[in-house]
Amino acid sequence: MDYVHRFDFVDTELDSLRQQGLYRRLRILMAQQGPTTTIDGKKVINLSSNNYLGLTTHPKLCAAAKKAIDDWGVGTGAVRTIIGTMAIHEELEKKLAAFKHSEAALVFQSGFTANAGVLGPLLGEGDLVISDELNHASIIDGVRLTKAERAIYPHLDMAVLEQRLQEAQATGHKKVVVVTDGVFSMDGDIAPLDKIAALCQKYGAISMVDDAHASGVLGKNGRGTVNHFGLDGKWDIQVGTLSKAIGAMGGYVATNQKLRELMQHRARPFLFSTSHPPSVVATCIAALDVLQSAEGEALIARMWDNTAFFKKELQRLGFNTGVSQTPITPVIVGEGALVMKLSDELFAAGVFAQGIVFPTVARDKGRVRTIVTATHTKQELEQALEAFGKVGKKLGIVR
Ligand code: PMP
Repeated sequence: MDYVHRFDFVDTELDSLRQQGLYRRLRILMAQQGPTTTIDGKKVINLSSNNYLGLTTHPKLCAAAKKAIDDWGVGTGAVRTIIGTMAIHEELEKKLAAFKHSEAALVFQSGFTANAGVLGPLLGEGDLVISDELNHASIIDGVRLTKAERAIYPHLDMAVLEQRLQEAQATGHKKVVVVTDGVFSMDGDIAPLDKIAALCQKYGAISMVDDAHASGVLGKNGRGTVNHFGLDGKWDIQVGTLSKAIGAMGGYVATNQKLRELMQHRARPFLFSTSHPPSVVATCIAALDVLQSAEGEALIARMWDNTAFFKKELQRLGFNTGVSQTPITPVIVGEGALVMKLSDELFAAGVFAQGIVFPTVARDKGRVRTIVTATHTKQELEQALEAFGKVGKKLGIVR
């Protein structure tokens, strides 16, 4: 091939994205990740972060990060299994296990790698994973990296899940894992873990939840969906992220001690990628302390108050907020061009709410996705609602 033309395929792909209206420029944050911030030079109310409790800028977390740099330096210089496990990594894992009411926990570099990290050692040839059709990409990719077979059940459909479990029993798979998001990232609805746990028990399957959007949000002190459903000790594997409500970066698997030991020997991101810098580890330890304090409880209560107010007012304005039960509140408007127009007009009116279109969601279910946080003031939310009302009317989305 002509040397000059080796990357023509990239132009073709990018042109195709542009033609479908799916080409995205990265928005640039020019200030801290807060309830209001500056994006591309414009001051806006920020409704698109996963910073549920405002911990990304919390003074106690920032101080812990700075102290850890002084005490430990900025990097670990090795993977966990060589010489990259510092005392604070162990301290964080002990605290996470206690927080999640599980025997043990293992920390990974991100929630994404935590999913891959646990699914690899768990699943092999002859095994089956049964997955909700709306599960996160990191679960899907984690499963793809294994030799296990997969079966999908329609979103939250317990009857089909049971059917899949019966089929698995009939075909004699060695091991069956049922995996679900705890809170679904595009719709904000909650998986019925109580029903899933009962089915797993009935059919001898392993239960796994990805609690990325439930960590710090649901359950006592933000312990997650398992605690929310009163299933402590009755659920096998809880994956969580440290990158959203916890305010920093990372993921973890909270489970039994023996699976932790197996992951320590077999989980590829754990074995082959350098461990968290000390500042991040110390930040996460401080975040867990905040969550389990009166201040943390007040932040969680404030986030739920803001959520209830914002959702109710959006609905009163006539917007379709779908089936959300959590701070993730989609404003569903339909096809892609209208979604992007709504997001752009909101931005012009001083509100940032990211548009999400096909293929991330179904073609007719395009939406701007909003997440209010504990740190939004009532006034900011009212201002955002006013912009939604005006723009929604202008675009004919609401009357
Ligand atoms: N699972 C879900 C449901 C998520 O929404 C995300 C983040 N988008 C992840 C996992 C990955 O977490 P992290 O950002 O920590 O890699």
